[in-house]
Amino acid sequence: MSLHRRYGLTRVINARGPFTPIGVSRSSGETAAVVAEALSHHFLLDELQDRASESISRFTGAEAGTVTHCAAAGITLAVAAAMTGRSAERAAALPVTEGMADRVVLPAGHAVNYGQSILQAVRLSGATPELAGTEAGCPVADLERSLASTHVCCLLLVASRLTRGEPVDLAAAVSAAHRRGVPAIVDGAAQDLRIPDLLGTGADIVVVSGQKYLASPTAGLVVGRRGLVEAVRAQEKGIGRAMKASKEAILGVMAAIDERERSERDGWQREQDRKVATFLARVDGLAGVAARAVPDPTGLPFGRVHLRLDGRDARLSAEALAVALRSGSPQIHVMEHGLSSGDIVFELVQLSEDEVRAVGRRLTDLLD
Ligand SMILES: *Cc1c(COP(=O)(O)O)cnc(C)c1O
Repeated sequence: MSLHRRYGLTRVINARGPFTPIGVSRSSGETAAVVAEALSHHFLLDELQDRASESISRFTGAEAGTVTHCAAAGITLAVAAAMTGRSAERAAALPVTEGMADRVVLPAGHAVNYGQSILQAVRLSGATPELAGTEAGCPVADLERSLASTHVCCLLLVASRLTRGEPVDLAAAVSAAHRRGVPAIVDGAAQDLRIPDLLGTGADIVVVSGQKYLASPTAGLVVGRRGLVEAVRAQEKGIGRAMKASKEAILGVMAAIDERERSERDGWQREQDRKVATFLARVDGLAGVAARAVPDPTGLPFGRVHLRLDGRDARLSAEALAVALRSGSPQIHVMEHGLSSGDIVFELVQLSEDEVRAVGRRLTDLLD
C-alpha cells in the first residue's frame, strides 16, 4: 500500500521547484536503495564524512567538503567556522563570541528569506549580520567600506533568484573580501548544477542543498577550502550537534553524486526541454493565455513555462488559476512570485512526462 493511502496523505504534483513545504524533490530508486541499506548498518561517522569529502572534491573540484543537516545549517556552521577556525575551545564557546571577530557582512539585497531569514541563520551561530549597500544594489565600493569595519569574520553572498536589486558581481565581491583578509561564503542552495562556476568566483566556501536538484535526502553540502571545511567539522562537537547529517543522508548524498557523475548533462537538459515543449503544445490555443519558455535567471541549465493570463479573455486570473490548480486532486503547486502581475510559472524538473500531460489536461479543463 502506498504511503499516501496508508497515512491518508494528500497527493501533490510539484511544478513549484524544489520547495521545502511540499517535499522538495524526488530521489531516484538507486539513491533511495542506498539510503534504505544505510539505515540498517553501523558506520564510523568520521569515516563517512572523510569519504563524502573525497566524493564532493571529485564532483566539484574543491579541496574538501562536508555534509550538514541542510543548507541552512551549512550557512550557520560556515559562519561559525569563520569565527572559530579549528579551535575546539572556540567552537565549544559558541554562540558566545567573546574575543572573536563576529561581524558578517552581506549585501542588503542578499538578506533573503527562504522560509527562514538568512539573517537568523547567521545569528544562530552567535555572529551579527551587517548589511552593505541598499535594497536597490550594493556596489563593490559599499561592500569594501563595510568590510573595512572592525571584527568582520566573513562576507556572505547569495546566488539565487530570491535576491533583490542590481545583481552583485560575485567575483568582484569575493576579491574585495580577500583584499580585507576575510573569507567569502556563498549560499548557492539551489545551485548544485553550478558549483564549479561559484567556486570559480574565488569563494572560500559554497553551501548547497542536497535535496534540491541533486535529489539526495535532506542534506547541506559545504564545499571549498580545506581549512574552513575542517573548521565546519569542528562545530560537530558544538552548535553543529543539532545540525548534523545522518549516516543515511551522507551515504544518500554520495549515491546522488555518483549518479549525477554518471548521467549525461546534455541528455538531462534535452529531457527538460522536451517537457517544456510538451507543456507548451498542450496549452497552445487556450483563450487569453500566452505561454513561453523562460531560462533560469541564475544560469541553471533549464527553462520554466510562464503563462501570462489576459484579464479580459482568460476564464480565470492567474491568482484564481493557482488556487484552482491547488484545489484539485492531485494538488498542483506552481511558482507564485509573478501572480500579482498576471504570470503563473511552472517548473517542470520534478515532473514526469505523464505529470506534465496531467497538468496540461487540468489547465484545459479550467481555461477552455
Ligand atoms: C532552499 C534555500 C536555503 C535553505 O536550504 P535548506 O537545505 O532547505 O536548508 C538557503 N538559501 C537559499 C537561497 C535557498 O534557496
